[in-house]
This record gives sequence, C-alpha cells and structure tokens, in this order.
Amino acid sequence: MKVTGSELLAFDRCPEFRRNLWEKRRQKQHSESEAQALGKWAHEILANMMKGISPGQLELPWFSQLAKARALRLALLAWWDRYSVSTPWSEVILVEEPLTAQIRTGRPPEWAGDVILQGIPDAMVLWQGALWHCQHKTLDQSQSVENFACSVAQSLHESIYAILAKNRWPELRYGGTMLNIVRKMSEGAMLENASRALWLEFLPIGDRQIERAKDDILWMVDHFDEPWRRRSGCVEVGRGKCPYYEACWEGISLSDDSIYEDAIPDERYVGYVVRSNA
Ligand code: SF4
Repeated sequence: MKVTGSELLAFDRCPEFRRNLWEKRRQKQHSESEAQALGKWAHEILANMMKGISPGQLELPWFSQLAKARALRLALLAWWDRYSVSTPWSEVILVEEPLTAQIRTGRPPEWAGDVILQGIPDAMVLWQGALWHCQHKTLDQSQSVENFACSVAQSLHESIYAILAKNRWPELRYGGTMLNIVRKMSEGAMLENASRALWLEFLPIGDRQIERAKDDILWMVDHFDEPWRRRSGCVEVGRGKCPYYEACWEGISLSDDSIYEDAIPDERYVGYVVRSNA
C-alpha cells in the first residue's frame, strides 16, 4: 500500500480522523482557518523564492485587509532580500516534488503487506556536503522558537523526509532539518525591521531516529483498521473542536452535505511523476 506523510500524521492525531479523511474522503465545509490560509499563501511564496523566482511587489491575497497578512508580506520580502543575496545552502536540489520509498516488502499474513511511503518536501538542499530538508514554517510571535524547534526535531514528519531523502540519494550523507521559520509579528514591528522575523534552525537527524520512525510508521499502518478514537483530540484548548466532532459525538452523518463535503486529501500528488530510487 502507498501511504503519505499526511495520512500518517492524520492517524497520529486520531485514527478516526484518518478514516474520515483518507478512507471516507469527507471533510468539514469551509474547514480552512485564516491562519491556515495565511500559512499556505506564505508557503507558496517561499517555494517560488527557493526556485529563485523573485516575489516582485508580492500582491496580497483575499485576506489583504488583515494587518497580519501585511506584516507577513513584509517578512517574506525581507526573506528574499536576505537569501537572494547569500544563502546558507550551497545548492537547492529539489522544491516541492514528491519522493517515495518502499519501507517494507513481503506479505506475511500478520502484516498489511508492502508499504510505500510518499511525501512532498518543501525543499531539499545541500549544506556542508550533506543533504538537508529545508522546512518552511510560519510561527506566531507568541510561540517559543525553542519549544517549536524541539517539537519539530523529534517529529515523525521530519523523519519521514529523512527516510525519503536517504532512499532517493543514498550516496549523500543526510544532515537533518533546516528549519526556515518566518515569525508572524505585528505590522509595526515589521515596518521597523522585518528581518527580525527570520530564523534558521539546524536540527540534525541521525540513523537511529530514522530507524525508529520506520518502526513507528509500520506499526501505524498495521493498526489503521482498529476502531480506536483518540478522545483527547476532540476538543483542544486553543485549537477548538475537531472538524469531525459532530459526526463522532452528535449523530451527524458524514454524508450530510450541509456540514461535510467531499475531500481529496492526496490532491497534491495528482499529476506528479514520483521520484524514486527503486
Ligand atoms: S472528534 Fe475526536 S474521535 Fe472524532 S475524529 Fe475528531 S479527535 Fe477523533
């Protein structure tokens, strides 16, 4: 079976969440928050800039009235000013293209069978002779960079990219994650000095962490069918209700088109030829 990093992260959030999104392929209507839309917009700009495409004057999208969006625009322009002149990486190898790696073969009866991992890294770069995953993140100024970097360093997300990169470029040493943080600060702070929003953290990832991640992924895949629900994710302070709350706990059907709509969780992979070293 093919499994993406996004599907594994959905399972990690809650097995029922993964089933609803990846098997039943339904999602809450208008589920994208303002923060998600802003993050997605910044990601697209950063991906283009990693390809060497100038942002120009950088037009704002629909949320252009927001001071937050205007502030982020200034931060992104500062990113271009800094990194179009001098980059910490010596070469950009790839920007937002899917990679794949077969992490299990054979079909003993107790296994789910072959497992082929897929993921789309933000960018793969070379730094000091090693390969690094350059991961873009927009981060609210109220959040601690140190804690955030710590959470990224041991995340399954980053180990997945390590597995994919080592499979694709076995001849190269794998360094880890180059965490490219753009902080979401106030417009006033950005007008004063926008480069203060830019952070780069180097998070090494070693072989032991990668092997452990493979074990965790295979365990997850083998438990996709179990009906367990992670109730701690139903309502989270600061995040609000899970989009499937009504379906799980209030008797609303996922087929109810007034609340839920069809989802294509693997939309990003459509139309791509996946790079593999197989
Ligand atoms: S509401 Fe709770 S049980 Fe249902 S999918 Fe969300 S986190 Fe899982």
